[in-house]
Amino acid sequence: MSFYAAPIAKLIDELSKLPGVGNKTAQRLAFYIINMPLGEVEQLSGSIINAKRSIKYCKICCNITDSDVCNICSNTKRDSSTICVVEDPKDVAAMEKTREFKGLYHVLNGAISPMEGIGPEEIRIKELLKRVADSEIKEIILATNPNIEGEATAMYISRLLKPVGMKVTRIAHGVPVGGDLEYADEVTLMKALEGRREM
Ligand SMILES: [Zn+2]
Repeated sequence: MSFYAAPIAKLIDELSKLPGVGNKTAQRLAFYIINMPLGEVEQLSGSIINAKRSIKYCKICCNITDSDVCNICSNTKRDSSTICVVEDPKDVAAMEKTREFKGLYHVLNGAISPMEGIGPEEIRIKELLKRVADSEIKEIILATNPNIEGEATAMYISRLLKPVGMKVTRIAHGVPVGGDLEYADEVTLMKALEGRREM
């Protein structure tokens, strides 16, 4: 039972569903929002809806984009024989910052996590297998995060791809174990990419 009027209780409830937002933060945000000028609130809610409506997943790599095929996949200068598999669109941005990788990506949009009930079907592994079957790919670089979920995901994909004769490599652990790829600095990421080993 909430002590607040229904519309505010509803707003707090919705905000508290966001990652990293507990009930206290949700309350603080809700009261901040209702004290904002109406125009600003409309801009905020409008940009949320607009981002959600205009963003789609690239038909090829499953990265987020506002067109059918993302900028990287549609760039003919990129090396289409190498695919770097990452968990998140944020990891693509991190890898791109190194300027070291000239191949294409595949964004899983998650990692296998039995603890959270995320199985291989919940992430974009099927799409990766289809790409591998259809095209002239020579190497798959597994750049999932160096934590339990990332390692499990890399192992799972490797076991599917090795039997079909695909070269599968794993980025080296210049990236700290338990860490997140998006937080690694560019040099560390570059070294990790250079030191990748075959799985
Ligand atoms: Zn793409």
